[in-house]
Amino acid sequence: MSTINITSLFPFRRVNFIDSEQFDFGNSTGIVVQFKPDLRFVPICSYCYHKGVGSHSNHQRFLRDLSLGPHKTLIHLYYRKIKCPVCGQITVEELDIAEPGGPRVTRRLAIYIQELCKLMTVKDVAEHLHLDWKTVKEIDKQGLQKEFASTDYNGLRCLAVDEISYGKHHRYLTTVIDFETGRIVWVGKDRKYETLKEFFLRMPNEARDQIKAVAMDMWDPFIKAVSEFCPQSAIVFDVFHIVAQYGKVIDEVRRAETRAAAEADKKVIKGSRWILLKNLENLKETEVPRLEKLLSVNKNLAAVYILKDELKTIWHCPNRQYMTKTLDDWCSKALESGIPALQQFVKTLRYHEYGILNHTDYPIHTGKLEGINNKIKVIKRQAYGFHDLEYFILKIIQACPGKR
Ligand SMILES: [Zn+2]
Repeated sequence: MSTINITSLFPFRRVNFIDSEQFDFGNSTGIVVQFKPDLRFVPICSYCYHKGVGSHSNHQRFLRDLSLGPHKTLIHLYYRKIKCPVCGQITVEELDIAEPGGPRVTRRLAIYIQELCKLMTVKDVAEHLHLDWKTVKEIDKQGLQKEFASTDYNGLRCLAVDEISYGKHHRYLTTVIDFETGRIVWVGKDRKYETLKEFFLRMPNEARDQIKAVAMDMWDPFIKAVSEFCPQSAIVFDVFHIVAQYGKVIDEVRRAETRAAAEADKKVIKGSRWILLKNLENLKETEVPRLEKLLSVNKNLAAVYILKDELKTIWHCPNRQYMTKTLDDWCSKALESGIPALQQFVKTLRYHEYGILNHTDYPIHTGKLEGINNKIKVIKRQAYGFHDLEYFILKIIQACPGKR
């Protein structure tokens, strides 16, 4: 068995070990390890990485490093500032230990912090390492910026675009995902035409030309942006959003029918919202007779209810021709009902028919973004809220790498 040399725990390449000492921090003990530049190496400019630049002045600083057991560890580093003849900057020489000008921690501690931040909140990491939470957040953010600063447009063929709301005041972010892998490609502030325009304008032309289809809600600003900046792609309206919009029709009809109903029927209709919106197979045993009673006393509610289930079957059609016919049939029945809210909904469907029928060529949807909303709650806690929106967005991208 050989004894461990303390220097082997600090395998920094461009410096020499000088000395180490142990001391008391009050309630904990620490180790300070001194290093100075190894003069066999010529200095490197940390700005442009030019080698062999002359020395300008000598400096020193303390850097937090990974702890050694219970001992808080500090590197006491001597380094040179240099004036670079190539880029003209006066910078700190590159010593492979820490980010020049960054937080006062070693690179390996920064990596450890970034790994912990994937699992814990910024606050917990800060407490665990006895660091300021702002320092921890900054270190995590710098790592994320390095990894995700440039958008990865590789292999994109089908996109799903949706909004996510965050914060108390219903602020929005637009999220673009790679439908095939589930990877979040890009997140932009707001949910405007300009938001998605920014995404497409940043995208290299070759990548944009590869986009075959985009799934989205029937949201005019997104439709406009895709039609304008990715005109070859097929717009596919998301079935879940359409069905959810139909839920609003049911609500409207239910409210109108409650107002118009006789006193006795009012009681039956009242509180029926969830029964009407739920899928039949999800109803509790006790809810089935209530639904039957409800539908028997009110013709219009029965009509919107039956059409709800029929609406979903449109997306099960095997081809465009069949889908066109099923959609036509559904719209005829809805119009014949004479219910104004339904007639209005038919108008919406007809206006967006092209993107409904495109589902037969590209059976894509935005459903994968649903799970992201749950992740966001976790990320909000981890990222210490939304105060730093850029950090929050980077955390979302990190949390949704998708599957190949
Ligand atoms: Zn330089």
